[in-house]
Amino acid sequence: MFDSSTRTLVVVGAQWGDEGKGKLVDVLAERADWVVRYQGGANAGHTVHIGDRQTVLHQVPSGILHPGVRCAIGNGVVLDPETLFDEVDELVKDGVDVNGRLYVSDRAHLVMPYHKRVDKQSAASKAIGTTGRGIGPCYEDKVARRGIRVLDLRHPERLQTLVERGVAHANQALASFGSAKRADAEYTLAVLNRLAPRLLSIADDVGLAIHRAVKGGATILLEGAQGSLLDIDHGTYPYVTSSSTTAGGAAIGTGIGPRSIDAALGVVKAYTTRVGSGPLPTEYDEAMGERVRKLGNEFGATTGRPRRCGWFDAVVVRYAVRVNGLSALAVTKLDVLDTLDRIALCTGYEFGGEVMEEFPGDIAALDGIAPRYEWFDGWQTSTAGARKLSDLPAAARAYLDRIEALVECPIRYVSVGTRRDQILEVEQRG
Ligand code: GDP
Repeated sequence: MFDSSTRTLVVVGAQWGDEGKGKLVDVLAERADWVVRYQGGANAGHTVHIGDRQTVLHQVPSGILHPGVRCAIGNGVVLDPETLFDEVDELVKDGVDVNGRLYVSDRAHLVMPYHKRVDKQSAASKAIGTTGRGIGPCYEDKVARRGIRVLDLRHPERLQTLVERGVAHANQALASFGSAKRADAEYTLAVLNRLAPRLLSIADDVGLAIHRAVKGGATILLEGAQGSLLDIDHGTYPYVTSSSTTAGGAAIGTGIGPRSIDAALGVVKAYTTRVGSGPLPTEYDEAMGERVRKLGNEFGATTGRPRRCGWFDAVVVRYAVRVNGLSALAVTKLDVLDTLDRIALCTGYEFGGEVMEEFPGDIAALDGIAPRYEWFDGWQTSTAGARKLSDLPAAARAYLDRIEALVECPIRYVSVGTRRDQILEVEQRG
């Protein structure tokens, strides 16, 4: 994707997350100078396979696996310093040189131990799925102007006041859930004081650094987490995450202007998955769900939770193309469909004799709809070895061509396996 007109590229999930963004970012990072995360937190779980080694990265941008690539965690991320350094230490153990290559925005908000405690206690009383990592409560504190940022670690007195206020608020929340557990300011300060020197040594004005890199002609990959349909504004509210997962969030979450972003690549699976509650219009019945879940190994990288599975939903992806302004798509996990005899694409939702072709803002509009499907013959042959479009069976190409036409966005990459080399780049057409 990087060329003379695309130097800053954002990669987003164009469904409900887990689309395989980690792999795309890993492949594209080879040609990037910087890889930057811009939202979410340790709830993201990018799985990257290199040779036989599997690494799951929660907070560190996947670019870290490429020597020479600089990695940054932008201001839009909520940063858990405890698990960040666990992850960094693991990478170092694996022989990855992190020194001088990892930066965190001094404006990023910190996930506190009490955010995790509140998150875990609230999980039981909410229908919204949470990974229990404190992300939601941290974003709540950020918006309520009660948050604590990396830069506050530079000011011990201010930090103490902020922690006391945060703890008092967390304790109100814990009491309201009926929990006997309480947060403790002294403990929280001890954790922060232990981590502060290490964190401050990599803290920087990331927005300024990226701005300078853009001006200097560097190639920059902005790495989204979760998926567009989980966006706080554009997702299936309230079954969404707490941040802006769509491409616009990349400008806000890194501190560069939208005009600095040249292109947006949307990652989609060749089918659909989602974790937790909320609408999934094309969801399979139990038997088919079980089959595809096994074929695609659809279990959460962070939580191990089984993912709900369904057919590819062109209504959803066309919507994602629009709200992200996608320049191109990467279709992943095509190989997962290799053994199916018939494959369906959803082209619209039928209700009361009408067909809905635009994804609704009100999820109640999806109650009782029936997806309208187009059926395709399965190719029933392995695609795992395909390295160019012409290596794919005709039936698989027909399926991809129809996706392209329905969602109104060109497919630029097709991924056919977990390994880094199992990908094909589609030549750009005239
Ligand atoms: P992300 O959060 O969007 O990066 O997605 P995850 O890492 O949670 O999930 C993607 C999973 O699918 C990982 O285990 C990847 O190794 C795997 N994966 C990615 N691309 C492909 C592919 O083309 N085929 C198969 N079979 N697995 C893939």
